[in-house]
Amino acid sequence: MNDDIVNFIRDIYKTKQFIPLHAPTFSNIERKYVLETIDSTYVSSVGAFVHRFEEQVGIFTGTAKAVATVNGTAALHVALYAAGVRANDLVITQALTFVATCNALYHMGAKPVFLDVDRETLSLSPNSVKMWLENNAERDEKGCRYKYSGQTIKAIVPMHTFGHPARLDELSQICNEWGIALVEDAAESLGSFYKGKHTGTYGCFSALSFNGNKIITTGGGGMVLCKDLEGGKHVKHITTTAKQPHPYEFYHDEPGFNYRLPNINAALGCAQMEKLNTFLELKRELAQSYHNFFENSEVQCVKEPSYAQSNYWLNAIICPDKEYRDEFIRITNSAEVMTRPIWQLMHRLPMFSSGLRDDLQNSQWLEERVVNLPSTPVELSI
Ligand SMILES: *Cc1c(COP(=O)(O)O)cnc(C)c1O
Repeated sequence: MNDDIVNFIRDIYKTKQFIPLHAPTFSNIERKYVLETIDSTYVSSVGAFVHRFEEQVGIFTGTAKAVATVNGTAALHVALYAAGVRANDLVITQALTFVATCNALYHMGAKPVFLDVDRETLSLSPNSVKMWLENNAERDEKGCRYKYSGQTIKAIVPMHTFGHPARLDELSQICNEWGIALVEDAAESLGSFYKGKHTGTYGCFSALSFNGNKIITTGGGGMVLCKDLEGGKHVKHITTTAKQPHPYEFYHDEPGFNYRLPNINAALGCAQMEKLNTFLELKRELAQSYHNFFENSEVQCVKEPSYAQSNYWLNAIICPDKEYRDEFIRITNSAEVMTRPIWQLMHRLPMFSSGLRDDLQNSQWLEERVVNLPSTPVELSI
């Protein structure tokens, strides 16, 4: 099996060289737009591409307002801040996530609560959230509190793992019931839809990432998706130092961030957005060929949930057990085909080890078994 998969992936990418997990794809459009910013000298915080990029992402996702930021972690930081999260608040998220989700929380002094994911979606489980709240929280007119310390439970942050949408209807309903804000970490799910609506448009604020390994890239970059225009204007204001418009005076009316995406990066983003639908098609075909390859084997592919259309950003398999996984990763990597285990659970990292959590049964089960496969979009000739 392991030799077969190496050959299979080499056939797909038609190379004898190292095959990465996910590499960006550029052509003349990227070159043209980036050169325009250099020729105009507008490479920095002012320039037409930023606005254009925000418009493109806004239209594609159907959000009220999209605000570009310097990276996805910054987008998440501002999204949480705009949702009202402050120091010492509790924020519910999944233990099975990339560390950036928790870093954004950490730097605002908020504390994570790590709850379990669904095995089907690899994303936050509404049942786990519901159960944890019923056992640990109380609701009053001011919001939701952790019974044992009185801390406010301010936000729930599902992460759409590898582009597979979490159960957003159920999570939204829990948020409404308990008076908690929904903030989506949609960093991996540009192009993923939940029941026909783009991920990141259910939360009051959500974050996208355009890091080099994401489905489209701006080099580094992110976007805050804002559910209403008022909130969107506020996010734009605070990400751009909270300066009141004036021809020459410097007056800033609240603590701001300098989280602006430079115009040169936005230029790259505008070009990449023009290709997003093509990337999505190619990724869907690539996922299908992996599914065919592993059909009738002991390895299970992670597939889009029945209610969703996933972007298949990173293909993932579930190995029968940890020994199988370790061997699979060893053989593929030594054959220069990059594969990676899923992240270690957040509560195992030293800075998050004191976080509250539930039993994390599914998270631990998945942690031992999930492997990512090369997922760069490519024209398949088979
Ligand atoms: C990529 C990613 C982010 C944000 O990453 P940046 O590198 O800061 O753009 C956040 N959360 C998740 C789950 C991610 O995969």
